[in-house]
Amino acid sequence: MSDLLELEEARAAVVAGVAPLAPATVPIDEAVGLALAEDVVAPESVPSFVSSAMDGYAVRAADLASVPARLRVVATTMAGDPPAGTIGPGEAVRIMTGAPVPSGADAVCMVEDSEPSPDGDLVVLSRRAEAGQHLRHPGEDVAEGSLLFAAGTVVTPRHVGVLASVGLATVRCRRRAVVGVLSTGSELRPAGVVLAPGQIRESNRHLLLALVAEAGATAVDLGLVEDDEDVLVERVAEAAGSCDVVLTSGGVSVGDRDVVRGVLERMCPVHRQVVGVAIKPAKPLVHGTLASGAKLVGLPGNPVSSLVSFESFVRPLLAVLAGAPGRVPTLLGAVAAEDLSRRPDGKLHLVGAVTAPGPDGRLLVRRVAGHGSHQQRSIVEAEVLVHLPDGHGVAAGEVVAVQPIGRFAGLAGSSGASGDVVAGGPGRAAAAAAGPVDEDCC
Ligand code: AMP
Ligand code: MG
Repeated sequence: MSDLLELEEARAAVVAGVAPLAPATVPIDEAVGLALAEDVVAPESVPSFVSSAMDGYAVRAADLASVPARLRVVATTMAGDPPAGTIGPGEAVRIMTGAPVPSGADAVCMVEDSEPSPDGDLVVLSRRAEAGQHLRHPGEDVAEGSLLFAAGTVVTPRHVGVLASVGLATVRCRRRAVVGVLSTGSELRPAGVVLAPGQIRESNRHLLLALVAEAGATAVDLGLVEDDEDVLVERVAEAAGSCDVVLTSGGVSVGDRDVVRGVLERMCPVHRQVVGVAIKPAKPLVHGTLASGAKLVGLPGNPVSSLVSFESFVRPLLAVLAGAPGRVPTLLGAVAAEDLSRRPDGKLHLVGAVTAPGPDGRLLVRRVAGHGSHQQRSIVEAEVLVHLPDGHGVAAGEVVAVQPIGRFAGLAGSSGASGDVVAGGPGRAAAAAAGPVDEDCC
């Protein structure tokens, strides 16, 4: 196995020399899943003035040293009103949540503790007040001029709310990556076509397009290609100018029809790598840099291998392009809920598993059924990939490293999908600006 690269080495090779995409000014409502290209400094304080946290009466706390206290109501102020002047001893202002607190007042009493006179000119307050109670102070949430979010922060819906609260309509983010996806395989047929003997449905392109969109990038469908190197070269060349990444599925092993290696040799003369990675599934991997600067990544054809390869190499590549390196993959500690056995083979096994909270609050993991790299139905439930190091596996109760996948995976995945899938194909891409896991598989 000495000719195989370790997972980390292979991942480092895929992202080596890849620079973040150019910054762009993006409306905040379109920024979810993108990484900030520069620090965001707060242009305004939030709150920006002393305001009431309650509906009630703005008072001088000293006037309520003994209760009940009877105060003269000198004004009413609503959210959005200008401040209602100054109150003196024995005076109160009727105030609504969010309204500016008049000068002279140092507390707000809740409406629940008040008894106004029928004409509203007087109010009897039954509960003592502490100076400062129910007041919101300027800058309590965000101080003007402070660093709000650092460059590299991935925008989530919560960031969008904060950005809006300080009056920002746009932010500078790394632009969304455009990722072209094509499948290779003369045996593959799309839905709607009757299968001849030996033919199977094509699924990886759809899987990968959806994964790309879920990861927050723009996915471009480059279609399905026969195992014909020339056709493949043509299709990749068409997409290269408009895509930041071109993903291919299938044809990366050493079979007669594994044509992607040849494409790599012809189209990535300088930076290219054909490797076996010491992982299972998803051992074969090819990647290189096209003349356009776009990255070409060839993923294995077995569907589960394609998924694992995406999570292991493509999602981290997208993170680097997004300007948020090091965020994925995330590894968490969890406890095996059952024995997770495997056989020694020199590889790290990446095993689909579901999680559940354990009695002590720790995360428990349980392997999903079906371990073949062709059994994609079984990986559907998986929330994580358990990293099972070479050996005989781990016993129930032992701690294992797990890698969240899909929408649990971090960078855009965890912040909600915000990418999209657009039609592509030739010439159209430009418009898009419980047993041992031992199956021998790629
Ligand atoms: P390959 O890596 O091209 O040798 O493919 C490995 C296995 O995965 C073969 O059984 C292929 O038929 C299957 N396969 C390859 N590409 C796809 C695809 N896009 N959708 C479904 N199965 C595929
Ligand atoms: Mg094939």
